[in-house]
Amino acid sequence: MKKLVVFSGAGISAESGINTFRDSDGLWEQYRIEEVATPEAWAKNPELVQRFYNARRKNILEAQPNIAHQHIAHLEKNYDVYVITQNIDDLHERAGSSKVIHLHGNIRLAKSSGPDAENTREFYSVEGAELNLNKHFCRQGYPLRSHVVWFGEAVPAYTDAQLCVADADIFIVIGTSLQVYPVAGLIHDIPASCTAYYIDPKAEQQHLPAQFQKIAKTATEGLSILVEQLQS
Ligand code: NAD
Repeated sequence: MKKLVVFSGAGISAESGINTFRDSDGLWEQYRIEEVATPEAWAKNPELVQRFYNARRKNILEAQPNIAHQHIAHLEKNYDVYVITQNIDDLHERAGSSKVIHLHGNIRLAKSSGPDAENTREFYSVEGAELNLNKHFCRQGYPLRSHVVWFGEAVPAYTDAQLCVADADIFIVIGTSLQVYPVAGLIHDIPASCTAYYIDPKAEQQHLPAQFQKIAKTATEGLSILVEQLQS
């Protein structure tokens, strides 16, 4: 079976009703990064950070996977499929994808806010939407924070992702502005022999290696076209 790797960003979940960060109605329009998504924000105002992510978790729990997530899950019938996602939602898993690497964490999980939090691989599941500073603690007694990689923090799963793409036969990048580093660098780690696609409504504006075929469509439209092509 050929190895097919999907690299997804916030755009794949936009049609499920989860805001992206950089589109004009995106989340960054309403919040400043440094107030909610950095270690400094947590040190200064953990209540605000917790509230921000509790709202994200509620939105994600209410959302459903869309046809794009489902197409990717169905590709497992014919391909050895791996999903590498920048998303903190779990819509790939809920659509049925079995191998998912979360580069920036998974909001359905929590981790310690203690000194080793950045690199920990010890996670706690979150019941419902709310993590509470006064109620939820790790084994060492620190409040639990969402399992989300903040700006300025290490990306422990990045090495797994690099290894994963290194022998891909087919690589599909979908719904990402490729502005968040280091993870955006992944597009340069695929083999020269790999067939690569980039699906995004703003595909034409993106500078990409010549190896990539651009599909300037939404995730659901673009994947419907590509899946048909891959299966014929
Ligand atoms: P981004 O907001 O920087 O870019 C979103 C991209 O999606 C843009 O290129 C846009 O053109 C495209 N897009 C918009 N609507 C689309 C659609 N219907 N179909 C396909 N593409 C569409 O997002 P990013 O590149 O993923 O980086 C932002 C960071 O924000 C990520 O690291 C991620 O962790 C985080 N984030 C996650 C979620 C989530 O978990 N769903 C949501 C927002 C942000």
